Amino acid sequence: MGQSSSLAGINGRRTFAIISHPDAGKTTVTEKLLLFGNAIQLAGSVKGKKGPHARSDWMAMEQERGISVTSSVMQFPYKGRVVNLLDTPGHEDFSEDTYRVLTAVDSALMVIDGAKGVEDRTIKLMNVCRLRTTPILSFINKLDRDIRDPIEVMDEIEEVLNIKAAPINWPLGSGKNFKGVYNLYTDTIHVFKQGQGHTIPDDIQIQGLDSAETTALLGEYADDMRDEIELVRGATHEFDLDEYRAGKLTPVFFGTALGNFGVREMLDGFVEWAPGPQSRATNERTVEPSEDKFSGFVFKIQANMDPKHRDRIAFMRVCSGTYNRGMKMKHVRIGKDVKIADAVTFMAGDRTHVEEAIAGDIIGLHNHGTIQIGDTFTEGESLKFTGIPNFAPELFRRIRLKDPLKLKQLQKGLQQLSEEGSTQVFFPLDNNDIIVGAVGVLQFEVVAYRLKDEYKVEAIYENVNVNTARWVDSDSAKELEAFRNKASINLALDGSGHLTYLAPTRVNLQLAEERHKEIRFYATREH
Ligand code: GDP
Repeated sequence: MGQSSSLAGINGRRTFAIISHPDAGKTTVTEKLLLFGNAIQLAGSVKGKKGPHARSDWMAMEQERGISVTSSVMQFPYKGRVVNLLDTPGHEDFSEDTYRVLTAVDSALMVIDGAKGVEDRTIKLMNVCRLRTTPILSFINKLDRDIRDPIEVMDEIEEVLNIKAAPINWPLGSGKNFKGVYNLYTDTIHVFKQGQGHTIPDDIQIQGLDSAETTALLGEYADDMRDEIELVRGATHEFDLDEYRAGKLTPVFFGTALGNFGVREMLDGFVEWAPGPQSRATNERTVEPSEDKFSGFVFKIQANMDPKHRDRIAFMRVCSGTYNRGMKMKHVRIGKDVKIADAVTFMAGDRTHVEEAIAGDIIGLHNHGTIQIGDTFTEGESLKFTGIPNFAPELFRRIRLKDPLKLKQLQKGLQQLSEEGSTQVFFPLDNNDIIVGAVGVLQFEVVAYRLKDEYKVEAIYENVNVNTARWVDSDSAKELEAFRNKASINLALDGSGHLTYLAPTRVNLQLAEERHKEIRFYATREH
């Protein structure tokens, strides 16, 4: 492939994830985006829809694992660009996974339920995005219902999320009186028509807010709407591309994903304004997407994607250069060259063999246990992409075997599950316990289930007196050794052999930190 065409290709990549509170409409928006991308014929087939109360969380999670086979990464072409949409786990117990997915994107789409406004999880995810100044575009959803005063919702975004909000279009009513959206920049109304949820909807436009057609559409509300829009123009921020790209301003679109209305306008704005692949930091230098040589990092590992194969797929974000089928890459952590003949992608929801992938794209590598989250692959250079952490777990359980003879399988299983980020495992220095740590309680269920399903090990959890964990380190090997001897009762090795302090209480941790100034305690650990 020629240099110039590959460059144009890079700038046309749009790699993003959706952040939202559960039930705001992420799945529905995804379905409509795929519809516009012609990735599926009928919207509605992305997920076998959950009935949130009909099944236990556990089953929903199982299903989530099943469906994410095809929806982990969705690639589709749209208006001369190639869009890569990365799915994030819905349940907050898997927030660590979500965090890592957000390290692999160049921008995010924030979906907000118009009736509810800014909710908890959106705030948390927004804070994650801010760590890397990820640009955010917003979609206020469910306009077919009675929503809150849109001006209030805009204020809430600005105040709670601490970002300027610039409406691109403005809703004309909501619920039964929802007439459409008015584009503040083109002076165009897109008229809402019901019943177009499953097809690419007609785009019925009226030019001019002051036109007679507009008056006919809005009827008795026409003058009020004109006044409101006048007010909105004066009271809100104007869209500014640089500020958006710098993560300081979010363009806002209104619509209804279920009614498949407003999504197209949002998508049009998104492909136009969202940044292409960004440069990425490594331990040595910054890698530019336009560099010739291939590089990428693994941000997610998923097992069991194809029940027939039971393989693990390592999802890699390409950061520079071109992946070609059959190429050799250096697996930096283990210092080996590997030939990648069968990377997979998710175009149109199918796993197909990728012939080529460039910066911004995600490829899936078959993993037989050698690849870990955070691993870097290059065309020879010894680089390590940074910023893909583990978080100190907040929940701990001792894990015990039903059949003590299966210790080897248990260790192997836990090792692999911790490498793919499903849990964290700790081996205390002073006894033979095995302690697993998690950020969310559902992770424990997943681990027990997978140990049984994939490693044929039945394990039981017991409570353990650990409240929090810190990875420890020191500039002086001698001091570290002394600490290791003195505090061994609280020390463990994690799955990768790092020394970790397991504190029974917060107070204990605080005291340890005060007493051992020569030791550093970390709440996150780079992979
Ligand atoms: P997620 O949890 O964020 O993925 O949300 P879903 O896409 O599953 O949507 C949650 C619920 O809201 C589902 O019952 C959807 O049918 C419904 N929903 C999504 N978008 C809209 C919308 O625009 N209007 C209405 N009335 N309901 C919607």
